Amino acid sequence: MTRKTDVLIIGAGQAGLAMSHSLSVRGIDHVILDRGAVGQRWRAERWASLHLLTPNWMTRLPGWHYRGNDPGGFMHKDEVVGMLNRYARSFSAPVEEFSGVESVCRTPEGFNVRTKSGDWTARSVVIATGACDRPAVPGFARDVASDIAQVTTATYVHPGQLDPGGVLVVGASATGVQLADEIHQSGRPVTLAAGAHVRLPRRYRGRDILEWLDRCGVLSEARDPSVPSDRALTQPSLQLVGSSPPRDIDLMTLAKLGVTVTGRLRGIDGANARFDDNLQTDVLAAETRRERTLARIDNFIRTTGAAALPAERAALLSLPNSADTRGLDLRASGIRTIVWATGFRRTYPWLQVPVLDASGEITQSGGITECPGLYTLGLPFMRRRNSTFIDGVGQDAIEISAEIARHLDGNSRAAA
Ligand SMILES: Cc1cc2nc3c(=O)[nH]c(=O)nc-3n(C[C@H](O)[C@H](O)[C@H](O)COP(=O)(O)OP(=O)(O)OC[C@H]3O[C@@H](n4cnc5c(N)ncnc54)[C@H](O)[C@@H]3O)c2cc1C
Repeated sequence: MTRKTDVLIIGAGQAGLAMSHSLSVRGIDHVILDRGAVGQRWRAERWASLHLLTPNWMTRLPGWHYRGNDPGGFMHKDEVVGMLNRYARSFSAPVEEFSGVESVCRTPEGFNVRTKSGDWTARSVVIATGACDRPAVPGFARDVASDIAQVTTATYVHPGQLDPGGVLVVGASATGVQLADEIHQSGRPVTLAAGAHVRLPRRYRGRDILEWLDRCGVLSEARDPSVPSDRALTQPSLQLVGSSPPRDIDLMTLAKLGVTVTGRLRGIDGANARFDDNLQTDVLAAETRRERTLARIDNFIRTTGAAALPAERAALLSLPNSADTRGLDLRASGIRTIVWATGFRRTYPWLQVPVLDASGEITQSGGITECPGLYTLGLPFMRRRNSTFIDGVGQDAIEISAEIARHLDGNSRAAA
């Protein structure tokens, strides 16, 4: 039997749930389909110790905000699952769990959607399957010698799962620096290969850095349309960790702890790794960006009179453990495992609608695709800087729900 609804949302993470809430407010008939349970990725594809890097008070979704007694704390990933489930229950979100979508096809009336648990027709579809879908591992990973283990951010759980010996962590965004730190603390020698990155202090002038960025309006800044979408999709995330007590985590602090920092990994042939000579340039570029951001905060404090401690800048530390950037014999250096923390890509093998570009990304503008009735949500910089954040996806959902209402022309079956 084919079931019918006005809008099908694919994915029951924060994006799909925020869209569901926004459609519910408008009285639009809809169903959320997920291949797993609500918050599936936080359940199954994140490492064991992960805490959000955004403080609890930034857990704001349409019709929902953090009500606990630790607004400045950082939720463990299991608490995120709990929070998403409570959010879904708070407005009786119509979620069909374990209903993986296998195909989405265009029809004259809208869309046919085939799932593991049955078929659907809908007049509109929202793809909310996540920006962090599949680990983006470089092609040269296949040239790595078979005696060197490879782990991705989706398969890494804790240091105990790794073979004994040294570890090369590739990538120095939030995930890379957090994993380098955790693995180093477990007693293994860690080498961290770093490219372009964004370095910020956890706290600045007496407040969490994200509080300042939120108050200055940096996080909700609209996407600059002149930035090509492929660049927006590959922006490095902030080198931050959610910890108690708060602490900085960046190349400098890691190097000080004993992590060896190298330039970007260019290629591997067997056990021979080659690195770019980018480290100084990228560290200086990150420093310039950091100074610009902190100056913006200083200016905000000056012009608004916001309560703040006096400004102070940590001196740029050198990288004492920088490796020779020309090359490294992984075996000779005792490196037994590579952890790829090289970002994410998205795949839509089930999408039979011609909206994918040459690299397989959905062509869209602010979540609106060229196919009438087909929308996306939760992509990096989709409408604003925080489009992928728990605290940012809600505004995008509200705006796109208005587009959907226009598309449905106010004739939702529920509304009728
Ligand atoms: C390691 C890590 C740490 C992060 N930390 C923070 C943080 O501190 N603060 C913050 O605000 N953001 C953080 N983010 C970013 C963002 O909040 C998460 O990526 C979040 O999971 C995105 O939510 P989403 O709903 O867009 O996608 P997802 O959570 O990925 O949800 C997508 C859903 O779609 C489902 N799905 C996929 N394919 C199908 C299919 N074919 N059929 C049906 N269902 C399908 C999946 O099962 C999943 O439940 C982090 C991201 C990562 C990777």
